Amino acid sequence: MKFHVLTLFPEMISGGLNLSVIGKAVENNRIALHAVDIREYSLERHRKVDDYPYGGGAGMLMQAQPIYDAHRAVTEGRNVRTIYVTPQGIPFTQTMAEELSEEEELVFLCGHYEGIDERVLEEIVTDYVSIGDYVLTGGELPAMVMIDAIARLIPGVLGNDTSMEDESFHNDLLEYPHYTRPEIWHEKGVPQVLLSGNHAKVSAWRLEQSKIRTQKRRPDLYAKYEKRQLLITQLSKDKRNHIHMMESLARGTAEVIYENQTECGVEAILYDSKNKICMSNSPGVLSESNRREAFCADAEYIVINRPVQEQDVSEEDAGSAFKDYCVLSQCKLMLYTARTSLPVKHKNIRLVSDEDIFKSEGFADRLYQAGICADGHYSSPSGGADEEFRLTIVEYLRERAGSDALYGVFMEDNLAGIIGCHRGGSLGLLYVDTPYRSLRLGASLTAFMTNHMLEKGWVPYACLPIKNVSCQERLEKQGFYKASGKIVIYRKKYLQTNPGYAKI
Ligand code: SAM
Repeated sequence: MKFHVLTLFPEMISGGLNLSVIGKAVENNRIALHAVDIREYSLERHRKVDDYPYGGGAGMLMQAQPIYDAHRAVTEGRNVRTIYVTPQGIPFTQTMAEELSEEEELVFLCGHYEGIDERVLEEIVTDYVSIGDYVLTGGELPAMVMIDAIARLIPGVLGNDTSMEDESFHNDLLEYPHYTRPEIWHEKGVPQVLLSGNHAKVSAWRLEQSKIRTQKRRPDLYAKYEKRQLLITQLSKDKRNHIHMMESLARGTAEVIYENQTECGVEAILYDSKNKICMSNSPGVLSESNRREAFCADAEYIVINRPVQEQDVSEEDAGSAFKDYCVLSQCKLMLYTARTSLPVKHKNIRLVSDEDIFKSEGFADRLYQAGICADGHYSSPSGGADEEFRLTIVEYLRERAGSDALYGVFMEDNLAGIIGCHRGGSLGLLYVDTPYRSLRLGASLTAFMTNHMLEKGWVPYACLPIKNVSCQERLEKQGFYKASGKIVIYRKKYLQTNPGYAKI
């Protein structure tokens, strides 16, 4: 990701961000930081960039021309999201940071003095964002705050990406308290549970502490959390069919867009803005076009619950229900509700890196031929068997590996099989390479991933194409339960020809 900062003090940006974690990310080319001196674009003698405001009043204003020219030089005709940092903007939040971290390039415009000539703002700014209700002397600190918050969400910038899942605001909860060595300090011990080595117990304790802390320090946030929990409880009345929605809410990846209590239960629409997935347990509630347009105009994927006995949804059906979407796949949800971990026979399972996959000769190609899902759990293996589809698999594996969400089993240092967590949150991407098929590595990988999810305090679930009965049976043998209904997944039509769709 590339950050351009239009500023009068470029040395402040480079000095402030070229250190520590962000500095390392620049060094490792995970991000690029480009501080642009607006004065370089002044046409005036002495590189003047400010003047008196028309109508009088205190202070100076930054002029339009140098900013406009600097912006043009940076964007070179590309449509780049441009953020003016201003106390008059909408407040910057973690959700906004998550959304912005999906961009490939961002421009930040830093004001000074009394601000900037309105006319240039009208021409180049796409977002007005504030870091809080107070006034600073310049926009450099706000831009740095935002860049720091956004950059650390980019895969590979932090050492351990999964740590973000516990952080404050992730799930409308503040983070739990931390302790490090020594075990006793000022006669205060470390809570015993943290020394127990029992990951599930540690997760439960941390969640409890997060709740207590949020309730005390941020009751406004806690009220949001409670509302979300209430919906989870309502959805849990039909847990097997709602597990994807419940987990998206519980893990803090989706927001509640709409809910309505009916005689038959709750109808809800959820939206995962990072992955652009809209979910609803009621086809009716979403298919009213005005509602759909208002709530998820942005969605690249729509996931709807349907009764299993209903005929397969055809492309035409999709056309009438969701005009710009096509049916991608029809799946069965499977969940593991026991809290006990599963036995893992093969111990040599660890995080897979990009390199592991691509150093293993032809692994990605064999995996593609086996029809492993490419774009999240939402792809039908047989669909789109072409070069583009192959590339999406490679891209998707890279992204998953970069997010520490892909694990592999190794036999004498060779990658023999993989499993992962999809962006949508389900367990999947299971593949065992041809020479190792008789070793029951699949069972070990599934057990490993199930245990890993349990340790995080999640309910492990998978989302399997409805026709893949053998895989469903294998999961049942390991203690997974099948939903009674199915989920139908629609994908926005343009995505089929847009390479960007690999990103789910
Ligand atoms: N006269 C302006 C007003 O009342 O809205 C304030 C100008 S401020 C002194 C100068 C610059 O600092 C702004 O143009 C903006 O870029 C930046 N700035 C100040 N406070 C900020 C905040 N809370 N969030 C984001 N940017 C801020």
